[in-house]
Amino acid sequence: MNYVVLAVPVFFLLIGLELLIARLQEKDYYSLSDSVADLGCGLVSQLVEVALKTSLFAGYLLLYQRCRQFEIPVHSVAAWAGCLLGYDFLYYWFHRKSHEVNAFWAAHVVHHQSEEYNLAVALRQGAFQGAVSWVFYLPLAVIGFPPLMFLTVSSLDTLYQFWIHTRAIGRLGPLEWVLSTPSNHRVHHGRNPKYIDRNHGGILIVWDRLFGTYVAEQEEPVYGITTPLRSWNPVWANLHYWADLIGKARRAARPADKLRLLLARPGWLPADLGGFQPAPEVDPAGTPKFMTSAPAGLKAYAFVQFLITIAVGTLFLFRQGSWPPATRWTTAAFVVAGLVACGGLLEGRRWAAPAEAARLTAAVPLVHAADVLHASWMPALITATAALAIGAWLWRVAWVSVDTRALE
Ligand SMILES: [Zn+2]
Ligand SMILES: [Zn+2]
Repeated sequence: MNYVVLAVPVFFLLIGLELLIARLQEKDYYSLSDSVADLGCGLVSQLVEVALKTSLFAGYLLLYQRCRQFEIPVHSVAAWAGCLLGYDFLYYWFHRKSHEVNAFWAAHVVHHQSEEYNLAVALRQGAFQGAVSWVFYLPLAVIGFPPLMFLTVSSLDTLYQFWIHTRAIGRLGPLEWVLSTPSNHRVHHGRNPKYIDRNHGGILIVWDRLFGTYVAEQEEPVYGITTPLRSWNPVWANLHYWADLIGKARRAARPADKLRLLLARPGWLPADLGGFQPAPEVDPAGTPKFMTSAPAGLKAYAFVQFLITIAVGTLFLFRQGSWPPATRWTTAAFVVAGLVACGGLLEGRRWAAPAEAARLTAAVPLVHAADVLHASWMPALITATAALAIGAWLWRVAWVSVDTRALE
């Protein structure tokens, strides 16, 4: 059972609560476009997880069946505690290596791209992290922790980390010594040189204290990555660091350096390209966040379309198990294309509006012809969405200036 998907309503409730607190405190914790991008990345990562999970989990199952050293009873409280402790320890190393090895950072960087820090950022996850993380947890299979126990504990560790992504909670006294907290995880999301690659713990922060990667929060961090993404597109968010690495590999003269780039630390460059590039100092006042300006009508359209896409995506996560493969992958493609279009519209990209109109026009006959979703209200919903899109498109072409370049 994927408990993370079951918790989606709780996530949205707590995001609502944080928005309310921000309003009361007169603070800007959220930006609409940034949150759309965060949730878009979260949904894309869940869709990819559905595609990959069975094959990735096969490794754990196989090792458990063939190589386990102990028969661990499912009903023992000590076994559950041991599994959680073991998982959290291995999570620390997975997370730390995700920051220290370029190929792993390319998958994890997505979680760090937001220049905001709020509960929506917690849901911003890299689509390909699962392809890296499963290897780190194999020792638990060899020890003999039953697969269902492992999966449950893994969900618990992930769920715990949701609440620590907030600026609304200050320091928590002695808890800061033991647990990952909002304060010490804010540090983890900072791009200030002294905060980079610190505080990787999942539930326990003691691993960072033990292995020398702990730093307490001093001034509030400047959030994000050293070379900002400057995009709301969730697919580009997952690919941009690979594009960056391929560009560097092309420019490197020696073949050995091209390969080394994959395993080197982020920031490392071969000597012929200038050697290691340390993270630059940041001045909070002089570091404007990425912002785009689209016409209000277009923004509203993108937001409505985004909500519909999130609803269809959530339906996919709950129900896809009972759908035939063609339905499953058509819906997933429709959702991903919708998220990309929303990002493009908010960035004011010229391709976004025609692409969005094409997506919805293609969806109508597809859904009707194949009865792909086996739900009578679904074609109606999609037809309504298409009508809305085409209406917005006409409104856009007829009354709003065509030039919606992103204002950077
Ligand atoms: Zn991280
Ligand atoms: Zn985080």
